[in-house]
Amino acid sequence: MRLLIMGPPGAGKGTQAKSIAEHFDIPAISTGDIFRSNVSAGTPLGLEVRRIMADGGYVGDDITNAIVADRLAEDDCAKGFLLDGYPRTLGQVEALDEVLEQGGVALDVVLSLKVDIDELVERLRKRAESEGRDDDSEEAIRIRQQKYLDETSPLLDVYRDRGLLVEVDGVGEVSEITQRIFAALDQVATA
Ligand code: AMP
Repeated sequence: MRLLIMGPPGAGKGTQAKSIAEHFDIPAISTGDIFRSNVSAGTPLGLEVRRIMADGGYVGDDITNAIVADRLAEDDCAKGFLLDGYPRTLGQVEALDEVLEQGGVALDVVLSLKVDIDELVERLRKRAESEGRDDDSEEAIRIRQQKYLDETSPLLDVYRDRGLLVEVDGVGEVSEITQRIFAALDQVATA
């Protein structure tokens, strides 16, 4: 199983990604987590991306694509993978296409978690309070949502045109959403 999970910031991608990855016994690869761990460890990459992340911007495609290409080349991705938070730009879609083509593999599904923006802002405020993430200032939240709308949401059309998009209602209890996701993925598997 090779899949992407997409959705606006705060849609709950990370949480659902873990359940899906566990179910299919594949690695869940979050570019946000990779960047965050580099920031925490103070690596050169972390120093480079820290401010961009705190401001709610996107890390450059060249850096991001190189990180994902390296990660997908690791052994554990041979049986499949779930990408969470990548691709986010059309340039990243093209780079991913190339990596997959070189590996002789293709995506099976692109999962889109649909959540209303007002609902998201509320969730992100709560998360900022409880986790103290410094990319969750109110200004950064606004910028991140706008960036998603401008740069990332058009990717849904790309994958819809390819017949890969599966949309799932992302509002409700976490376990309820997980059930919806598995029901939708089952339909794809039996289609
Ligand atoms: P996330 O945890 O997926 O919300 O990512 C947190 C932050 O990491 C984002 O707001 C971006 O600054 C950066 N980031 C994560 N993934 C990407 C990506 N695919 N392209 C560019 N920046 C990214």
